[in-house]
Amino acid sequence: MAFDLILKGGRVIDPSQKLDRIADVAFAGGKVAKIGAFGAGDASDIRDVSGRIVVPGLIDLHTHVYWGGTSLGIDAEDFCRKSGVTTCVDTGSAGPGNFAGFRKHVIEPSQVRILAYLHVSFAGIYAFSKTVMVGESEEMRLMAPAEAVAVADANRDVIVGIKVRVGRHASGTSGAAPLDIALQAANEVGLPLMCHIDFPPPSYEEVVARLRPGDVLTHAFRPFPNTPVDPQGRVKDVVREARARGVLFDIGHGKGSFAFKTARGMLANGFYPDTISSDVHALCIDGPAFDQVTTLSKFLCMGMPLNDVIAATTVNAAMALKRPELGSLKPGSVGDVTVLSVQEGKFDYVDVVGEHLTGDKRIVSEGVVIAGRWWHPEGGYKS
Ligand SMILES: [Zn+2]
Repeated sequence: MAFDLILKGGRVIDPSQKLDRIADVAFAGGKVAKIGAFGAGDASDIRDVSGRIVVPGLIDLHTHVYWGGTSLGIDAEDFCRKSGVTTCVDTGSAGPGNFAGFRKHVIEPSQVRILAYLHVSFAGIYAFSKTVMVGESEEMRLMAPAEAVAVADANRDVIVGIKVRVGRHASGTSGAAPLDIALQAANEVGLPLMCHIDFPPPSYEEVVARLRPGDVLTHAFRPFPNTPVDPQGRVKDVVREARARGVLFDIGHGKGSFAFKTARGMLANGFYPDTISSDVHALCIDGPAFDQVTTLSKFLCMGMPLNDVIAATTVNAAMALKRPELGSLKPGSVGDVTVLSVQEGKFDYVDVVGEHLTGDKRIVSEGVVIAGRWWHPEGGYKS
């Protein structure tokens, strides 16, 4: 047998190759081997996915999956089954003081790929629940740039950047100071920074002006205050300037960070997010974020073309991570694939301020391949 697994007859959309056509995808040795047309004798495992959409395994650039170690963590494998995500990027659940447990107890045993931005605050996001909410960036004694550099440097196989949260909720009276410390750590270790914003201070303008090419602003399409558009619907100059110099704009939906109004303003200006992510955690997995396919569906229903939506959760996310072997179906890429369908009908969506949108489409996860093996659902599409 030439291959281990073949997905047969799907519509293959791979924005990394500007590919959108009916084809078979073959896997060998845990990687994508070839896209083409194959026969019954070419693999021991052949799945007929005709009528479905085959895309590179979805990357959710903003999740919280330190299950059990942090109160906001959700289970990455459960989430993957629901949402078709094959790479969960955890953003700052752990800091240098508790990353070892995240690695040993969650990342290493997980069948789903988990990468992480390491929080510059010593214990990451340690007090985030319905009843106890303490911003980990407010107490400056918790800022641990030297420790973060050491842990990030020792775990470069899974740590992709430094995370910081600033805003009234996350950094309180410390304002933007934790961002400046996190930037020092990111510079020192030579990795990108992902920065969270919430209510001012600091302002959107102050934050985005500090970010370097390749850094990621998450919660970029949040509701007022701290939005990227002005009341006249113009994208703020500082936002355009930041994109021009290579700053990346990520959605990070979550429970407080995505508004249809902001997204409409941005899309009307042709300003698509670089990456779409769910910011799924314990307090938003039952709504309003739910999962990655729901977050993607919102953009599809607001008029962003399907191929651009797929790019924002595959190749664009891989570029933000500097992991070109992810988010692509080029031969030699990791053998991760998500099988999707787009249902037509009337679907209710809600944002974080309670605005409802009736959409005419819904993206549904139908199956997952991880490392060249059919992973979910059990027995799915087996011929
Ligand atoms: Zn988050």
